[in-house]
Amino acid sequence: MTNLFEGAQFIEPAPSLASSPAEVQKTQAAVVFDDIGKVFTSSKGVATAALANITLNVARGEVFGIIGRSGAGKSTLLRLVNGLEKPSSGAVRVNGVSVGELDERGLVTLRRRIGMVFQHFNLLSAKTVRENIALPLKIAGTPKAAIERKVDALLELVGLSDKRDAYPASLSGGQKQRVGIARALVTDPDILLCDEATSALDPETTQAILALLRDINRRLDLTIVLITHEMQVIREVCDTVAVIERGEVVESGAVWRVFGSPQHDATRALLRTLVHDLPADLAARVKPVHDIAQGDANILLDVRFTGADSREPDLGGLTNALSVDGSRVSFVHGGIDRIQGHAQGRLVVSAEVRAGAEGALQHQVAALLERARRFANHVEVLGYV
Ligand code: ADP
Repeated sequence: MTNLFEGAQFIEPAPSLASSPAEVQKTQAAVVFDDIGKVFTSSKGVATAALANITLNVARGEVFGIIGRSGAGKSTLLRLVNGLEKPSSGAVRVNGVSVGELDERGLVTLRRRIGMVFQHFNLLSAKTVRENIALPLKIAGTPKAAIERKVDALLELVGLSDKRDAYPASLSGGQKQRVGIARALVTDPDILLCDEATSALDPETTQAILALLRDINRRLDLTIVLITHEMQVIREVCDTVAVIERGEVVESGAVWRVFGSPQHDATRALLRTLVHDLPADLAARVKPVHDIAQGDANILLDVRFTGADSREPDLGGLTNALSVDGSRVSFVHGGIDRIQGHAQGRLVVSAEVRAGAEGALQHQVAALLERARRFANHVEVLGYV
């Protein structure tokens, strides 16, 4: 019989000859959440629906971010991956294996393939850095020399070789998290789960830890699933994002797409921390354009770039299009970010209209808007000052 899948890069398990293309796709995913529901029932019988209708695929080798407000269901979703929680309905598959069907021994094996990093590091204070990292291998009965080799290599990877014999109390938050990451990698997992791994760290240390996660993702071809409430973490490190709100996925996709044109209010609310909103002093001076008086006025335009075009924003072209007969154009507020090679952002642009120029002021505003729209994905008139 011919093997239809000869040469294909499947890790485990090999798909049966009866697999449909959709099923083959699923076996290539590192983690599949298949229509997950989770209800917690208290001892008094009160039920809390924590997750509902969750269907997501985490591709092998990607950094997948799950974002949502506190209580949205992020931790519960993450804990399903290594079997710390069980779904009330649906199934979680890791490398093609259904977690719910594993017995205790199967779960132990699975957990060796999945590292976990915690917000508060969870290091043992009475053990040195070396002993903390070595612990999972020691428990597994790995020979001492092999443990030493592995720990030394990981200390080097996370940049802590000089802290080998230090105790956690003498380390900074960033150093503690590096130990946490090294410990999570000691069993050579192919999936790393990060539970708010940078939430207890200052912004500079957060950047360094995110850079380390990105580095190990690439170097070790590690799949990373992280949960966070910080959009900036998603922007810095993730390939794909799923936004969850009250236990349901409200939006998911490539980070640049979701950030460039958020579709759901929950996503927009989470993005507010990154968006360049109009500063209060300017907002207080803006008047609605239908009130425009007879004199000259500066029209404020809200110009958005979603990153959907392959071109860079043409700010020279935009300026020329808005500057009629030498009228003034200025960039008042905002910025452009680059996410996964897509330039996106929001600029507030001020363009002058003049009482003496051709056409009524209202018509000039409409013409400005039309010309600006040729250079951006979305333009609105905010008003005039
Ligand atoms: P997040 O990580 O986004 O803050 P969680 O997954 O911790 O959210 O919680 C989601 C919902 O499930 C919340 O309403 C929370 O109170 C509830 N929940 C989580 N764990 C339990 C539990 N062990 N027992 C009862 N309710 C729980």
